[in-house]
Amino acid sequence: MEKEIHQLNKAGTTFRTIIEPFKIKTVEPLWMTTAEERQKILKDVHYNVFLIQAQDVIIDLLTDSGTSAMSSEQWAGVMRGDEAYAGSRSYQRFEAVVHEIFGFKHIIPTHQGRAAERILFSVMCKEGDIVPNNTHFDTTRANVEFRGARAVDLLIDEGKDTQSKYPFKGNMDPEKLKALIDKEGAKKIPLCMITVTNNSSGGQPVSMTNIRAVKKILDEYGIPLYLDACRFAENAYFIKLREDGYEKKSVEEIVKEMMNYADGCTMSAKKDGLTNIGGFLCTNDDILAQQERDLLIISEGFPTYGGLAGRDLEAIAIGLKEVLHEDYLLYRLAETQYLGEHLDEIGFPIVQPPGGHAIYIDAKTMLPHIPGSQYPGQALVVELYQVGGIRAVEIGSIMFGKVDEDTGEEIPAEMELVRLAIPRRVYTQSHIDYVIEACKRVWENRDALRGYKIVEQAKFLRHFTAKFEPV
Ligand SMILES: *Cc1c(COP(=O)(O)O)cnc(C)c1O
Repeated sequence: MEKEIHQLNKAGTTFRTIIEPFKIKTVEPLWMTTAEERQKILKDVHYNVFLIQAQDVIIDLLTDSGTSAMSSEQWAGVMRGDEAYAGSRSYQRFEAVVHEIFGFKHIIPTHQGRAAERILFSVMCKEGDIVPNNTHFDTTRANVEFRGARAVDLLIDEGKDTQSKYPFKGNMDPEKLKALIDKEGAKKIPLCMITVTNNSSGGQPVSMTNIRAVKKILDEYGIPLYLDACRFAENAYFIKLREDGYEKKSVEEIVKEMMNYADGCTMSAKKDGLTNIGGFLCTNDDILAQQERDLLIISEGFPTYGGLAGRDLEAIAIGLKEVLHEDYLLYRLAETQYLGEHLDEIGFPIVQPPGGHAIYIDAKTMLPHIPGSQYPGQALVVELYQVGGIRAVEIGSIMFGKVDEDTGEEIPAEMELVRLAIPRRVYTQSHIDYVIEACKRVWENRDALRGYKIVEQAKFLRHFTAKFEPV
């Protein structure tokens, strides 16, 4: 990892220290809590960190979605927002920027990424269809399945090995894709998606070679390719750093090439749009675009605002330009890598190598004395909050565990991970150093951690509201 930091460094500056490429103009206070206060808070929320008030969290690493800090330019854009119902200037600016960066013909704004997904699959899929993806993000999978289609993940094998340091662990397996098409028939596959970076598989990047290879196969069968582009800029910068032939290309050029292989994309501006809300859907197909706009009008809004205010469109247009600044991307990937590198040094088993937006700790390996039925990830999440007021999220049996319909027994998830997601432009290095110090204390005390049991849960998406008790 050290080597990669060095590589990152070479790309930007000759200094060892990679500084935040921004200075602070507006501040939002953090409210400190004591260990005693946090103990009481945990008890009050039945040990479910989703139920903790944000003000009671010191460092919030729950998600990188919609948590970005906007720039002074974006806030100026908010003031400039044109709130005309139809044909606003803010839409025109938004449309022009998305067109310039992504290159697609039709650009349809939506209130966030999942709305773009719902519209896309409603128009393109029918019952019994199949949608392949490197790894479906959970809302993507839910929207495919809601349409009655089947969501199939075709991740490469290296991507499933938490310790493999393969540089593009987010890739789709072209062999598996070909086998799927040959088995099911191209008629059943209305589109194929690639998620960049591969969020559900650790924020790992996808290589240009892989996108090209997938596109080549799809072309043979006349299947369109769509990108789930939420972290398109982070992915492009990984390509610049790791893929032969791209060192000298600008991130903008790399993004253009990525998009050039695709027939359209879905996007959540809450990620690499550097805004707090928003999304869009793009396509080059005139007929699909018409159908998508028809659906947009009855559910999201008129095609020139699609569920967003003019000021949101303005902020997205500016954010999409800012996210391509290579100083920003260097800092962004280095910050995540810095956290990962230090946790690795302490001894934490983390998913290797660090992805773009988050570090994942393997709680099953870290806490072998806590069985899956007692949620080792939950034990770690609670301890991180207790020790440092840090909020992380369990991605394991609480989120993905299933109940066996015959026996009523719970089937644990394959992996018990804890994700530390890093909001964009929000925390400085000293915040991350604080997280590392708190993690070190958690690590030293790991043998004393105890498991949890669920005492109350909802039927769906139980992780948001479940109540727990220590075992
Ligand atoms: C966040 C996300 C989505 C959904 O976007 P929302 O804006 O949260 O609706 C889809 N795909 C990926 C890869 C994401 O990370």
